[in-house]
Amino acid sequence: MSDCIFCKIASGEAKARIVLDEEDLLAFLDLNPQAPTHVLIVPRKHIASLSDAGPEDGALLGRIQLAAAKIAAQLGIGDGFRLVANNGRKAGQAVDHVHYHLLGGRRLLWPPG
Ligand code: 5GP
Ligand code: ZN
Repeated sequence: MSDCIFCKIASGEAKARIVLDEEDLLAFLDLNPQAPTHVLIVPRKHIASLSDAGPEDGALLGRIQLAAAKIAAQLGIGDGFRLVANNGRKAGQAVDHVHYHLLGGRRLLWPPG
């Protein structure tokens, strides 16, 4: 999608600090970190939200979770991290391209706000 910031990062048109670059997914540092480690993991395919994902996206979304654990280990937060996908405006989704927040490096409270 031409006006989607995460598609632009995936295509290289927009800059980001990339931490994992794979054929069908990409991980990069969040511009406005909410924890000492805050990585966004996105599929290269533009899917607006999890509500827009279909059964054909299941393996891709699964690989994102596996990538999250791998990145967490590499960044030294494997012993305590959170993976969050905000879905819809009501839940705080601001960018309409599926993304998972990988957060760690501090005590993470529960329940979240
Ligand atoms: P959401 O609120 O949609 O769940 O999360 C969107 C996230 O994307 C926010 O944490 C925000 O800081 C991050 N973000 C928005 N625009 C950019 C950008 O251009 N580059 C990077 N690296 N992160 C962005
Ligand atoms: Zn997109």
